[in-house]
Amino acid sequence: MEFYDQVKERLIRYAKVDTHSDRSSQTFPTTSNQFDLARMLADEMREIGISEVYLDEKTFYTYGCIPSNLPEGEGRTIGFITHIDTAPDASGKDVKPWVLNHYDGGDILLNKEKSIVMTTEEFPNLLQYVGQDLILTDGTTLLGGDDKAGIAAVMTMAEYLLKHPEVAHGKISIAFTPDEESNGLAEFLDFQRFGSPIAYTLDGDHLGYYIDNTFYASGAALSVHGLSVHTGTAKGIMRNAADIAVEFQQMLPALEKPQYTSGKEGFYHVTGCVADCENARVDLLIRDFDLEKFEARNAFIRSCAQKLAEKYGKENIHLDLREQYRNLNEVVSKVPFMIDYLKKAIQECGLTPKTEPFRGGTDGSSLSFRGIPCPNLSAGYENAHGRFEYVPIQSMVKNVEILLKLCETYAKD
Ligand SMILES: [Zn+2]
Repeated sequence: MEFYDQVKERLIRYAKVDTHSDRSSQTFPTTSNQFDLARMLADEMREIGISEVYLDEKTFYTYGCIPSNLPEGEGRTIGFITHIDTAPDASGKDVKPWVLNHYDGGDILLNKEKSIVMTTEEFPNLLQYVGQDLILTDGTTLLGGDDKAGIAAVMTMAEYLLKHPEVAHGKISIAFTPDEESNGLAEFLDFQRFGSPIAYTLDGDHLGYYIDNTFYASGAALSVHGLSVHTGTAKGIMRNAADIAVEFQQMLPALEKPQYTSGKEGFYHVTGCVADCENARVDLLIRDFDLEKFEARNAFIRSCAQKLAEKYGKENIHLDLREQYRNLNEVVSKVPFMIDYLKKAIQECGLTPKTEPFRGGTDGSSLSFRGIPCPNLSAGYENAHGRFEYVPIQSMVKNVEILLKLCETYAKD
């Protein structure tokens, strides 16, 4: 199968490089280890003949492009963005990827010594890949197919085009970015250097899925100043910040939480509460797909804080509410060809394009509003962010084919 050996070798090689990012880090990039993969990718890009390769040693962003081979003025520029870091939710150190050929549909022994088994009962998604070849972990680390399966597909597509100059294509811009898992904003992407007015991220699970709908998101922190006095003489004087923090949480609609919502339903999610009598702080996330509903949710949180301020004194209640990212559909829907072409490419590769509202954000959520409309194509990994992550090699091969189809369509545009 064309591309099979290339994507397999690439994912295994990339997975062995520890590139975990760190959500608690105050620096950017959040970890220095990501540079190891950035440098490896920059070298590889030069080797296969990608032009204008540039690794920004401060931000760890890696750029390159394949110049158009069409007559001047023909074809449309296309861009691809994938992230080099892995989620800090599971260890990314000493990853030992291995290949299970012709998966037979049974449970998979990942680690004999530690008796770690991936069962089809717990992970029924395995059954979609019977007969395929899976890249797996040893059950003690994540694999990092999120998003190294995406990098492998983009690199293999580029290699093919550079080896086959007879295949017509417009300009193709490529960027590999750090820290998607820790801040997800691609905030240091240099638009000029990237050089494409539109882009697709190649990330996400399940082959053949694309994302053109994400949450609108804000984060809020309610701070409460209490007043502690001896409990024996507290009557009419004490202001218990911990009680007020609980009162605030009880004002939130009980069923509008992540654990009770799905599809296009929004929610409030209390991510933390630290409280004693003198001081309390409640952190929460506010999410919705619909702009009006999202704004109503923000207004509701403000009104809760206002009510508490009226009751306990406005100097004692402080709300900090900030927008985090917006639904990229607002931008992507204005460039309908991007999704039309993507669906066409997926179809032409023999798959049915599928989408679901993505209950999170992507690098594209931020990029879209900063000027690069950026929907997402699945990278084809499964069980991301955990020890049972795996990637079917055939899914990566399909993605190379989809990317080449996309480039072909953009060339004719
Ligand atoms: Zn990812």
